[in-house]
Amino acid sequence: MPSLSLDRLVKRYDEQVAVNAVSLSIHDGEFVSLLGPSGCGKSTILRMIAGLIEPSSGRILIDDRDVTRLAANQRRVGLVFQSYALFPHMTVFENVAFGLRRQGISSSALEQRVTEALASVQLQAYAQRMPRQLSGGQQQRVALARSIAPRPSILLLDEPLSNLDATLRDDMQIELRRLQREVGITTVFVTHDQTEAMAMSDRVCVLAGGSLQQFDTPEAIYHRPANGFVAGFIGRPNRLVGQLIQGTNATGVTDTFRVHLGPSLRFEVQCQAQQSGPMASGQTVDVVIRQEDLQLGTPGSPTQGPNQFEASITLRAFTGSRVQYVLAVPGGPELIALVPTNGLHGGYAVGERLSVSIDPGLIFINDRGAGP
Ligand code: ADP
Repeated sequence: MPSLSLDRLVKRYDEQVAVNAVSLSIHDGEFVSLLGPSGCGKSTILRMIAGLIEPSSGRILIDDRDVTRLAANQRRVGLVFQSYALFPHMTVFENVAFGLRRQGISSSALEQRVTEALASVQLQAYAQRMPRQLSGGQQQRVALARSIAPRPSILLLDEPLSNLDATLRDDMQIELRRLQREVGITTVFVTHDQTEAMAMSDRVCVLAGGSLQQFDTPEAIYHRPANGFVAGFIGRPNRLVGQLIQGTNATGVTDTFRVHLGPSLRFEVQCQAQQSGPMASGQTVDVVIRQEDLQLGTPGSPTQGPNQFEASITLRAFTGSRVQYVLAVPGGPELIALVPTNGLHGGYAVGERLSVSIDPGLIFINDRGAGP
């Protein structure tokens, strides 16, 4: 039974559509991220699930129950914001107990619930401290304990880690995931950080301009992006402009495309890789090729397959696990390639000439300006 479903959820502000008919089904116990650039509608979706914003149309179902018109406090949803706002004049214990007191449960049950919630974020020993006596990470953990103590059926997290410094954020990512697994709570996590979304989630929902672009596992989103927007947002893109030329096969059927990226650089594009509807021959298109999808060979051992071309290296940046190369391509645009470090040889040197290839299925084209 899906634990949370959104059914063609829409939110309009006057003329602007902030959320455009988003449908999702999130399973019981699943950790799902809403990922996209600022303004794509992530927080609006989260606040509609929480009951803080009323949808213009569409439905929200928790465990198959329609909660769209229910008040926020009747939805059994826990919410943690970026600014987690603990009550400064209350102890950690009282902060966590706050929501439970309003539920009117007995004092012995309350004590047990607070102790359990604090134990799950490893802060039992801090129950009598005041928030100002805690670090930023510890305060965030108290906010989490406060949200899970009433045993909500859904946990909603709105960029809860974005105020933390990088190291603490890494630690909290792992901690949050561990906690979510232990408690087994269905979680929706809002972030604009693709690495964070990929690392933490069972599935990722990529949004742009209020519309759902793709909802799938991190692996599928990375390896089989639905369109150029997803490919560019998840990977490290080369963003190019080209001209689309339709080709004909032996039987005279037009089913292949080539994209021209310069006087002497043209690539074959696999038809299913282009997602923005029918496109006309001669049309100018946005082209996304991920840096990590360029295959580098040497003149002595060239790369195989279609879309081969020659390039020379003009810059090289070593980043530890990967090397970034800037490639000058005769008769084509400059391209950047990102290659895993191979311990056996030092990679390529500036000035070296090499052969490059790109899989036709990994070239993403969008009508200019039509993309999200
Ligand atoms: P995100 O969380 O992805 O950054 P939001 O959900 O906050 O995006 O906003 C989505 C869009 O809706 C944005 O273009 C934003 O300007 C607009 N928006 C959000 N809240 C309001 C509001 N109260 N009134 C008008 N427009 C709003």
